[in-house]
Amino acid sequence: MQLEVSRRGFMRLGGAALATSTMSALGFGAGEALAASVRPFKLSRATETRSTCPYCSVSCGTLVYSLGDASKNARAEIMHIEGDPDHPVNRGTLCPRGAAILDFVRSAQRLKHPMHRAPGAKEFKRVSWDFALDRVAKLMKEDRDKNFVAKNNDGVTVNRWPTAAAFTTSTQSNEAGLVTYKVLRGTGIVGIENQARI
Ligand code: SF4
Repeated sequence: MQLEVSRRGFMRLGGAALATSTMSALGFGAGEALAASVRPFKLSRATETRSTCPYCSVSCGTLVYSLGDASKNARAEIMHIEGDPDHPVNRGTLCPRGAAILDFVRSAQRLKHPMHRAPGAKEFKRVSWDFALDRVAKLMKEDRDKNFVAKNNDGVTVNRWPTAAAFTTSTQSNEAGLVTYKVLRGTGIVGIENQARI
C-alpha cells in the first residue's frame, strides 16, 4: 500500500515526531509509551544454532533460529533461517534457493524417518532407526565379505571394497567430513563423494 503524504501532512507528522521526542527528553514519558508499543525483535527470545545450507556444494553457513524453552515436554520449532555473517564461505549471504530453506524444513514431503521397502513390496513403510541401521550393517557386511580385495594381481596389499560407494552430506563441518572419510576408507571403500567441497 502506498502512503500518500502531502507537504502539509508531512510537516504535521514531523512536528508530532519532534514533539514526542521533546516530551521524552523532558521526562514526560511519551517516549516510554511509544517504546512500549513497539513489538520486541522476533529473534530476541530464539535459540541460535549454526548449520549449513543443504542444497549445493557451496555449503553456505546458516543461522537457524528456533523457539521453545528446551524444557522436557516443549518442542522447539524453527521459525527463521538466515545467512551466517561469520561464515567464511558466504559472509551472511544466501542465494534465493538457500534463502528459502525454511520451506524445505516445513515441507510435507520432507523425509524425517527411515523408510523400508521389503523385497516384492510396492509400498515403503516407516521403520525404526535400529531396524534401518541393523539392515544396512548386515547388507554391507555380506557384500564386503563377498567382494573385498586384500591383494591385487601383483600380490600388493590394496584392501579395497570395490562393490560399494558412499555419498555423504554437505551439511557437515570439515572435522565431521574427515571422520566420515576415515571410517569409510577404513572399510576399504574407494568411491566416496562428498557433496560439499570442504
Ligand atoms: S545458499 Fe545457495 S549457493 Fe549457498 S549452499 Fe545454499 S544453494 Fe548453494
